[in-house]
Amino acid sequence: MPDALIPDTTWQRLAAEARGAAEKAYAPYSRFQVGAALLCADGTVVTGCNVENASYGLTICAERNAVAAAVAQGHRDFRAIVVVSPNGVTPCGACRQVLSEFAPAMPVRLLSKSGKVTDTSVGALLPSSFGKQDLG
Ligand SMILES: [Zn+2]
Repeated sequence: MPDALIPDTTWQRLAAEARGAAEKAYAPYSRFQVGAALLCADGTVVTGCNVENASYGLTICAERNAVAAAVAQGHRDFRAIVVVSPNGVTPCGACRQVLSEFAPAMPVRLLSKSGKVTDTSVGALLPSSFGKQDLG
């Protein structure tokens, strides 16, 4: 399914799922709630939210939680991800690397709570990435 074939209704569904996930975020320290909705090849949508910890370094981002949950459900072929945050930020470096492992060219839509939309891709966010192709 090429990027251009992802219909608006699917993007809207992903946005709604990501917003719902953001509401479940466990972010008592930063108060920065993030939700992600990952579209799998079979149409399944798997969500994730950020989960913080009193030991700050153990915090896991919404995007990585979505990928981990999807893989645990048997999905490895991803077609798109929507990330909702208070101000529509881009994924952190760790999440870019994890997304690139499974879907190096996947479209990424970033949404702010106020409705700002930014469309990009994993490839644009992580150019010249290290990946499984480098391991021979
Ligand atoms: Zn991250």
